[in-house]
Amino acid sequence: MTTATQTCPECDGPLKVDDSVSASEVIECPECRSELEVVTTRPLLLAVAPEVEEDWGE
Ligand SMILES: [Zn+2]
Repeated sequence: MTTATQTCPECDGPLKVDDSVSASEVIECPECRSELEVVTTRPLLLAVAPEVEEDWGE
């Protein structure tokens, strides 16, 4: 098992991602506590997970 070091898209901090993660899995950045969604695994691409809000304003 290996880990790849990614850069957090939110805080630019180093983020170790296990290579066994699956697409659409959500991981948490240890630096900024942002939830990051694995968009694709090859190549490993992370995106800030959309915040679930109770109030949709409608
Ligand atoms: Zn971060």
